[in-house]
Formats: sequence, structure tokens, C-alpha cells
Amino acid sequence: MRKRFVAGNWKMNTDRQTAVALAAGVAAGADRVPDVELAVCPPHVYLDAVAGAISGSRVALGAQNMYHQTSGAFTGETSAAMLLDLGCRYVILGHSERRHEMGETDQEVNRKLHAALAAGLSPIVCVGELLDQREAGQTLEVIRKQLDGSLANLTDQQATQLVIAYEPVWAIGTGRVATPEQAEAVHVDLRKLLAERYNTAVAETVRIQYGGSVKPGNAADLLAQPNIDGALVGGASLDAESFLTIAAA
Ligand code: PEP
Repeated sequence: MRKRFVAGNWKMNTDRQTAVALAAGVAAGADRVPDVELAVCPPHVYLDAVAGAISGSRVALGAQNMYHQTSGAFTGETSAAMLLDLGCRYVILGHSERRHEMGETDQEVNRKLHAALAAGLSPIVCVGELLDQREAGQTLEVIRKQLDGSLANLTDQQATQLVIAYEPVWAIGTGRVATPEQAEAVHVDLRKLLAERYNTAVAETVRIQYGGSVKPGNAADLLAQPNIDGALVGGASLDAESFLTIAAA
């Protein structure tokens, strides 16, 4: 049985004070959703402050990115060990904003993935198609290629530690959400691809979140789908009440 998992990707939002208040608000309401695993992913610079605000609660800490090297002359970068040191359990890898704004490739995501797993972090690997790719009927092809590149050389055992987030790029931050049927169809495809790459047990173990304009008003229909195991929430995670309402759905 896959435990539902709702994570908030705060992106480049909040300041120290609002980050702490938001995290404290999520922590205070976490017991409303005892069956759902919760995580917040603040900007790197507020990870430490947020770790303090959620300390002792059931809310986990996640980072939005990391670098694959362990240490050294990599100005501005953050290693997996540094994230662990701050109390992170999760790290988001290959978010579409990093893929499309920063030109991050599947190969880079793969290097980060191996470094994260080696350090003991649980990666949330994001995949998803652009609008023109969906309209051209290429969604399956795109996510297959992203999985092939991003998950290269992973053992079955390592694969069980992944969370995958299906985030159609056209639905991120746009208010245009995938229908539950559209999302479920891709989640089913992702599970088939995992079964092909690894085995059925891995495919049934890995949690697959949906992300893309998830809001309190549409979460219940999305999360009612049998292969949608939770949500990666951007905009709506910046308000503790709406984040918790999504988790309650
Ligand atoms: C995201 O950042 O992963 C995301 C899904 O954003 P939003 O919920 O704002 O579309």
C-alpha cells in the first residue's frame, strides 16, 4: 500500500519570516491528515529556519535542487550531504523550471539522482511534457525518454526509493490543470514503464505524484485516481490552509 505524499514546492518565494510562519502553520495542522505524508521544500537559504519550525512535527523537509558533486570548487552549489546536514529527507530533481529555465538535462538529473541516493536522500524526480508535445501525441515518448535518461543505471533496490512527480509543463503555474483522466492515464503509463525497466514490485511501490495547478478545489478528483499517490504543489503550497486542504483531499 503506497502512503499518500503531498509536498509543497515553494520555489523562489517567501522570506525568512514568512517561510517560518508558513512552515509552522503546516506543522500545526499536520495532524489533520494523519494518513498523508507531508513535506515542504523551501528555498535553500531558508531550509535551516524551516527545519526549526517543523521540528518535532510529522512534516518532512525537502530541497528544490542540489549538485551532484560531494564538495569542492563549485561556487554557489549545494551538495546532498549539506542538505542532509540541514535535516532534509527529500530533494526535488529535474523540475521543469530547472529543465527549461536552466537547461538542465536528463544526464544532469541522473548524476544528481545517484549522488542523492548515495547520500541517503529520497529524490522526487519530475517528468512531464510540453503543450506542443501533448498536442502532437508525444507524451508517452517524452516521459519514456526522460525516465531513460534521468533514471539511468539505477538498481531495482534504488528505484524503490524514488518518488516520481508527473508534472505536465503546460499545467505548472498556469491554472490549467490536467483532467483526472489525463493525469491518471500518464500515471498508468509511468507505472508500466517502471515495470518494464525494473519489475512489477518496483512499479507498485514507487509513489507517483501529480503536479500542475493543484488547488483545494481540484485536488479531490485528482487524488481519487488509483495511480495518483499524492501531489507536488507549487502556488497553493504557499498558504498553509490550502496546502493542508489539498492533503486532506
Ligand atoms: C510545481 O512547482 O511543481 C507546481 C506544480 O506548481 P503549481 O502547483 O503552481 O502549478
